[in-house]
Amino acid sequence: MAVQTVATDTDLSLGPAAALSCRECGERFPLGPVFACEACFGPLEIAYDLPGGDPEELRKRIEAGPDSIWRYASLLPVPADVADKPNLNPGFTRLVRADNLARELGVTGGLYVKDDSGNPTHSFKDRVVAIAVEAARAFGFTTLSCSSTGNLAGAVGAAAARAGLRSCVFIPHDLEQGKVVMAAVYGGDLVGIEGTYDDVNRFCSELIGDPIGEGWGFVNVNLRPYYAEGSKTLAYEICEQLGWRLPDQLVVPIASGSQLTKIDKGLRELIALGLVEDRPYKIFGAQAEGCSPVARAFKDGHDVVRPVKPDTIAKSLAIGNPADGPYVLDIARRSGGAVEDVNDGEIVDAIKLLARTEGVFAETAGGVTVGVTRKLIEAGVLDPTLTTVVLNTGDGLKTLDAVAPTTGPSAIIRPNLDSFREAGLA
Ligand SMILES: *Cc1c(COP(=O)(O)O)cnc(C)c1O
Repeated sequence: MAVQTVATDTDLSLGPAAALSCRECGERFPLGPVFACEACFGPLEIAYDLPGGDPEELRKRIEAGPDSIWRYASLLPVPADVADKPNLNPGFTRLVRADNLARELGVTGGLYVKDDSGNPTHSFKDRVVAIAVEAARAFGFTTLSCSSTGNLAGAVGAAAARAGLRSCVFIPHDLEQGKVVMAAVYGGDLVGIEGTYDDVNRFCSELIGDPIGEGWGFVNVNLRPYYAEGSKTLAYEICEQLGWRLPDQLVVPIASGSQLTKIDKGLRELIALGLVEDRPYKIFGAQAEGCSPVARAFKDGHDVVRPVKPDTIAKSLAIGNPADGPYVLDIARRSGGAVEDVNDGEIVDAIKLLARTEGVFAETAGGVTVGVTRKLIEAGVLDPTLTTVVLNTGDGLKTLDAVAPTTGPSAIIRPNLDSFREAGLA
């Protein structure tokens, strides 16, 4: 594995982050821009010295913090003065109590939508990029980069602009117009690659090993251990917004699977810190049928995730070879959850269902989680009498193409009352 040789700050200050540790063999390494274990090539993640002490005091300190993910800075690999740095400060998005949707789906135990469309670039990716930017700064990178299914490219472009870094991001060339424009508008370089996301990702791995990539921080490759931690903030916020309580069931979308695994990590940390009561929760993974390698493995009872070639309108989730697939399977099985998929028609129906019942316009990934929630309730797998949180990770305005063919004006009329009467809407 090529290890980046950028200026390494010997006095790295990334808050409570203590080391990198291998998720497979447990070997520990000093903090740096590396993502795979030298001993066994397993993925690395951050190990912490988390704050001890009175949970009530920690809860109070968090509640007095900024209305962004930085209220949890003491649990993240970021410098203590992170809130003073040029960063997009994402997070603390709304948790919508979805009573209308609950009635429609027959949920009686309380149904909530965690709506991450409210982030600065309108997807959950701002959370992970915010952490990666701080790591890039700490390691002295001058260019911020990524391989993206769309949302990440926009989040990196915006965060780099704000942080005063150069950006050069890579996407499959055939993404939705909304995603392409959002990735380009912040002024960095955007490169479309003729291939799938998995091709883009392979290309980026090559770039890292080449002298061209020197000084480049790829948020989801060589900065991945830091980046991934951003997803924990979803778990923290959901519990805080429920009144420092664990939900019973969570429905989470899967692209690479990173978000789902880190939500689990975040929940376990809250329990370990005594911030929430220790009781069981179930995590359900959601995929689109046109790219459902993890759901397939779950249903077949396999531990190995067999790569697929994606073909779905849920392009933000279209990763055919998900890096965290096996860990997702483990979490779903261990927690008593499941991994399920829905087809493109069901995704569109679910987007419209959520919009119609709660006034929340989700991108296709939100259609996937709402659709899977409905399917799992109908199948008797999700318990409607328990508190359930469904994630909406992106904004419907970015994937208008998905709903446009079946959504439009009820009528087009001349500007007079007769014409309106004739339309049958009066
Ligand atoms: C990236 C993304 C996800 C989840 O990604 P993971 O790779 O599984 O962490 C979910 N929803 C949207 C809208 C995304 O862009």
